[in-house]
Amino acid sequence: MTPSLNAERRSETDDERERRPHRPRRRAAERRARHALLSTGPDAPDGPDGPLGVDPGAERSARARREPMAVFALRSDDQYLVDTDGGSYVVDVGSDTCTCPDYEIRHHRCKHLRRVDMEIGIGRVPAPGERVAACAVCGAGVFVPTRETGAFLCGDHRPAVGAFVRDREADKLLVVTGVTRTRADEYRTADGTRISDYETNADYGDHEPVIEAVYVGNAMRSPGPLDVSGRRRYGFPASRLRRLTPDERPRKPVIGI
Ligand SMILES: [Zn+2]
Ligand SMILES: [Zn+2]
Repeated sequence: MTPSLNAERRSETDDERERRPHRPRRRAAERRARHALLSTGPDAPDGPDGPLGVDPGAERSARARREPMAVFALRSDDQYLVDTDGGSYVVDVGSDTCTCPDYEIRHHRCKHLRRVDMEIGIGRVPAPGERVAACAVCGAGVFVPTRETGAFLCGDHRPAVGAFVRDREADKLLVVTGVTRTRADEYRTADGTRISDYETNADYGDHEPVIEAVYVGNAMRSPGPLDVSGRRRYGFPASRLRRLTPDERPRKPVIGI
């Protein structure tokens, strides 16, 4: 609904209250027609859902997809704020409730509940029990369990365990054996040195999580799978290890992680 239509309706209601006995029939018919238009149009306020004969559930889902709504995860678990042209409502996916009239008065599974489900499904907002953290390398939002703390990586910067990567400093091939959530300035090697204290790590962020990996060395020349068991594991700030393009990736299977 546009603000101007809204204002017009309000003033008409006042008008109606004052002059009801003398109201011309034509104006009443106009009002009904406009009301019908508002109730079924794409920008209709929360109210009866669509024309007769349409499955109300399907119509609510269609409106949930089609109508402009902004969904925000609230700090409290399971709750989402849904901003619409018709008002702002709080959806609780734990109890499957909404503060809109369609839910509170008519007890329907409203378009806001459906929209929140859709946005969780496509990963636009965190699911219940998740929060948004920033990737330590690029700052992009990444969904993480609410109670997990530490440093995180987005899909573009998080290498898979078992993947080949290249050390940017030594230009050597490694295999990833672990992706930690411990920052480079908190992760200590066996002798107590922090990863961020190594001079070769000066160019990489102290706040980045540490990736554990083994150097491949000459083992690539041996036939059969690459067995990394028993090899010494090293820790690196995440951005020091470069992920390989599909063309660069060795075809060798890796075992013993
Ligand atoms: Zn609702
Ligand atoms: Zn990233």
